[in-house]
Amino acid sequence: MEPAREIWQRVLGELQIQVSKANYTTWLKNSHGVSCQEDTFVVGVPSAFVAEWLTKRLHSLIRKTLAEIIGRDIDVQFTVHNQDQPQDDLVHANQTDGGISTKAKIDRFNPRYTFDSFIVGNCNHLAYATALEIAENPGRTYNPFFIYGSTGQGKTHLLHAIGHKATSKGLQAIYISADRFTNEFVLAIKQRQVEEFRNQFKSIHILLFDDIQFIANKKQTQQCFFHVFNELYNNNCQIAITSDCAPQDMTLLSNKLKSRLACGLITSIEPPDFDTRLSILRAKAKEMMTSISDEVLQLLTERIKGNVRQLEGALIYLTAQAKLTGEELTPQRINRLLTSITSKQGRKVILQTVVDYFDLSIEELIGKKRDRKTALARRAVIYLMREERNCSFAEIGKELGNRTHVAIAHSYKKMANEINANQELKAGIMEIKRSLDLESEG
Ligand code: ADP
Ligand code: MG
Repeated sequence: MEPAREIWQRVLGELQIQVSKANYTTWLKNSHGVSCQEDTFVVGVPSAFVAEWLTKRLHSLIRKTLAEIIGRDIDVQFTVHNQDQPQDDLVHANQTDGGISTKAKIDRFNPRYTFDSFIVGNCNHLAYATALEIAENPGRTYNPFFIYGSTGQGKTHLLHAIGHKATSKGLQAIYISADRFTNEFVLAIKQRQVEEFRNQFKSIHILLFDDIQFIANKKQTQQCFFHVFNELYNNNCQIAITSDCAPQDMTLLSNKLKSRLACGLITSIEPPDFDTRLSILRAKAKEMMTSISDEVLQLLTERIKGNVRQLEGALIYLTAQAKLTGEELTPQRINRLLTSITSKQGRKVILQTVVDYFDLSIEELIGKKRDRKTALARRAVIYLMREERNCSFAEIGKELGNRTHVAIAHSYKKMANEINANQELKAGIMEIKRSLDLESEG
């Protein structure tokens, strides 16, 4: 398959679980990847109307999802383009909506995330074996089942794998991220439908709850989740939860919930070692049917020590580049391409970590907002890109929505002085630095 098509199929797989079923079917289902160039990814859609709608409504979600998949930020353009074949095969993996009356969108699973496609190594074998066991025998032994580990290590993948397996045996499983749970709960409050919201979890066998850390600081949402949890637990329904850290390290998670979690099995996924990373890359290369040599895969494994998502992203990006330029992927060329990816990635990681810390979006940060919080977050990015990644003021300016290097230099100086004078700010920056170190380790 052409790399752009392959990449877009993966993006669709992710989007399918992030947008509502109606939106997916109307706007995304009949789209396809046309080309993947250095700075722009082109998506073909059936009409100008669809192109306009996607540009207005889903552009930033699509861009973010695409960036996660290929491991670097890239612009997305929609163009009217007929494809030879409709991509119907993408939706066949949708599970039935049977029994769950309201939000049909939350029980769909990414077709790529199965047990078969999960590579097992020392780092994850316990999580894998337990996930398989609970998919076979839900609600029996390991309940609740809690997996924690840093980003991109396969936690979501395992939850979906449980969902596939259980639904194939006729069981009802719901996958929902804590983020989405929060949004829908808030909406339910507004519409006075909290009861209905909670009811949709009633008649299921398995609840797959992703990224619980997102509700740790949300009191009401946690309370609602606690009720859902108890009701399922008392009915012997299986609950599987993921997080980026162990329950005891989530200071804001309620003690009631923590003690419930402690009754089940808590296991971690560690970053994969060299052999596991290589096996994962070999499997992904096979799945993508690329002609990349094993020597190149080994080189990639050595160079990219981050998480599996980055590894996969690099492989996809390099394959696309090779196809685009027609040049063979020699070790020298790989080294050159990787240097450009990793420095771009380093800047992206800073941006993401800072917006997460300040609870802003990337758009807000690089946009024109000038309130105190946004301005401070922007200065933090400038300071960290300079200090941690040695970026030039011009590079930073480009990253932050084309600001001039003079403005950046000014902000940098201001921030350096502020940090010296303000202990609290200093502590905040140290905390962000610690999360950055965690991101780039591995
Ligand atoms: P997390 O939820 O931990 O952040 P994901 O489950 O989203 O991570 O995984 C990121 C990407 O890496 C996905 O494409 C997933 O399929 C892949 N991946 C992670 N771990 C493995 C593994 N052990 N075997 C195969 N693919 C993996
Ligand atoms: Mg995840």
